[in-house]
Amino acid sequence: MVRFAAVAVESGNTRIPRAGTRVPTSHRKRPAKNRVTFVPPFAGASGRNPAPSELNRRHFLGALAAATVAAVGAARLVVDPQPRTFAETPVGDVATSGPTAPAALLPPPPLSARIPLPGGGALTTIPGEGDLLALTVDDGVNSEVVRAYTQFAKDTGVRLTYFVNGVYKSWTENLAMLRPLVDSGQIQLGNHTWSHPDLTGLSKDEVAEQITRNDEFLKNTYGIGAKPYWRPPYAKRNDDVDAVAADLGYTVPTLWSGSLSDSTLITEDYIVQMADQYFTPQAIVIGHLNHLPVTHVYPQLVEIIRDRNLRTVTLNDVFLKTP
Ligand SMILES: [Zn+2]
Repeated sequence: MVRFAAVAVESGNTRIPRAGTRVPTSHRKRPAKNRVTFVPPFAGASGRNPAPSELNRRHFLGALAAATVAAVGAARLVVDPQPRTFAETPVGDVATSGPTAPAALLPPPPLSARIPLPGGGALTTIPGEGDLLALTVDDGVNSEVVRAYTQFAKDTGVRLTYFVNGVYKSWTENLAMLRPLVDSGQIQLGNHTWSHPDLTGLSKDEVAEQITRNDEFLKNTYGIGAKPYWRPPYAKRNDDVDAVAADLGYTVPTLWSGSLSDSTLITEDYIVQMADQYFTPQAIVIGHLNHLPVTHVYPQLVEIIRDRNLRTVTLNDVFLKTP
């Protein structure tokens, strides 16, 4: 159950502030004790979102650890190891049934509304005008985050596309919970390579191995084919990489138009600020299944989606499958 008390205050507010501006009060997490409050060195400093490519997570984490040690006194890092979900959020005074219950998210459009894939390069937005929002979340470094995101889907009906790196144990640890949602189509799985390398630094054989191994993992574990959707780690691709992927049936490099910027550890407030900026009609937004802060702001994300009357969709909700 969730605290939705602020919904009415923000109702109808579709203003999209620039990154770096203050988030409306109702979108800000109320102060809490014993929670991570880490001020990232880059958040808000330039007032711009980082470029639409994923930061090198592994390198960054090393730097982050060093920076954290160096920044004692400047940054406060108090770890709250428990992800929260709608089911687990402390109960307020909000009813969960009856006239004051939170409204469900809008359903996806009918299958008859699906459109052909545009082709001709990477997919970065949903073509045309409409009310669709494709939330795509990647990697799966943290099994608890995969579990919490999946619970978020169960609780709210939000439709999600996960771009999976099969190397992470989160994909087998959460199989029983996730499989029914994959089977129903509420959560779609895409291919993000087996172990998240920069594909432009690999031989063609190595690129093929990365894609094929992950493809087989998804088939063997979830019984689904992820083709034609794949996402290059760090958005790094070139003609050779695209050609290898296409030969394997992965013809749609799937990028994004906006990012929650949470491939690395950032604050809850910054994630909500990014959602406020990028949850727009026909957007494809990237997030990550790597760090806990996003699991603490699901109510705020839902509030933004609902205020703007957006329909969350998977890629298969939008596009006709091609051979
Ligand atoms: Zn990734």
